[in-house]
Amino acid sequence: MRILVTGGAGFIGSHLIDRLLGEGHEVICLDNLYTGTRANIAAWQQHPLFHFMEHDVIEPIDIAVEQIYHLACPASPVHYQADPIKTVKTSFLGTLHLLELATKYKARFLLASTSEVYGDPLVHPQPEDYWGNVNCTGIRACYDEGKRVAETLTFDFHRQYKTDIRVARIFNTYGPRMLENDGRVVSNFISQALRGKDLTVYGDGSQTRSFCYVSDLVRGLIALMQSDCLLPVNLGNPGEYTILELAATVQELVGKPIGITFRPLPQDDPQRRRPDISRAQQLLNWQPTVPLREGLQKTIADFRQRLG
Ligand code: NAD
Ligand code: UDP
Repeated sequence: MRILVTGGAGFIGSHLIDRLLGEGHEVICLDNLYTGTRANIAAWQQHPLFHFMEHDVIEPIDIAVEQIYHLACPASPVHYQADPIKTVKTSFLGTLHLLELATKYKARFLLASTSEVYGDPLVHPQPEDYWGNVNCTGIRACYDEGKRVAETLTFDFHRQYKTDIRVARIFNTYGPRMLENDGRVVSNFISQALRGKDLTVYGDGSQTRSFCYVSDLVRGLIALMQSDCLLPVNLGNPGEYTILELAATVQELVGKPIGITFRPLPQDDPQRRRPDISRAQQLLNWQPTVPLREGLQKTIADFRQRLG
């Protein structure tokens, strides 16, 4: 198959490309290198079935492909809030352009959506039929509402033009190749711990998240792409931890005495998050297998190597 991966030089996209090329597909990686790096895809540069296109998805694109994984969008609050108007444009115009491409070439289109469509959820854990609790004027809205309208566009293309769509709602994912300065909690804690600095816990650390290791997530994305499922599907690890529990685990695994500094909780920071993955289990026969400690160990090893 000839497969387009937008955002392919980023964290999840580059792991997805590893899998797709490993399965013998031809892969076009499209990225504007905003948070992605050439280093993430360096191993494939000489591969005959790999192509890199430096392109911004807010501009239209025309290339014949059979499948599109649409991941292009900054995912870390620090990066998506740095230029929020660009984030909204990336979500809306980027998704519009890739859906137009999918429709033109009758390609199957998979949107990398997010658990952020549930906002600060009033239903716990979150099933796909929960409509969410999002502040549409807050500092996270450029991303949350951007992804919500991206889902809307995706379903409208299906209803209006019969575009072949898949929608993955990805919950917090971590693993090797996360940018050490991208501001997300796992990468922050690991970088801080390896440098012997205090871990920065926002708020009192009682808020929860569910952390999925990247290889599990990529397996889920591919299973969804290959399935007949036209409904949105949660992909994430249902193990739920407070941020203080995560801090304690990182402290223990890094094995150095490291303190904690408390910082103010950012505006609209969701208090809890855990996916209900019944749909993925039933329709994709998918569930995560990598426990948090094991995934963190692999991630710490990768960061140790990169930080030197
Ligand atoms: P990432 O920031 O590492 O990757 C995003 C990639 O998109 C980068 O390579 C970046 O350069 C590229 N990009 C950004 N804007 C672009 C634009 N306008 N044109 C072209 N390329 C652009 O983030 P990630 O964690 O790999 O996330 C990938 C996708 O998964 C995103 O769509 C994100 O919203 C979604 N997601 C990720 C998580 C997570 O926990 N990692 C959770 C939910 C959803
Ligand atoms: N967080 C933290 N310290 C950090 C970075 C993040 O305590 O150095 C918290 C953040 O406030 C949030 C959680 O960890 O409650 C997850 O943050 P992240 O930015 O990784 O993802 P998201 O909020 O988008 O789920």
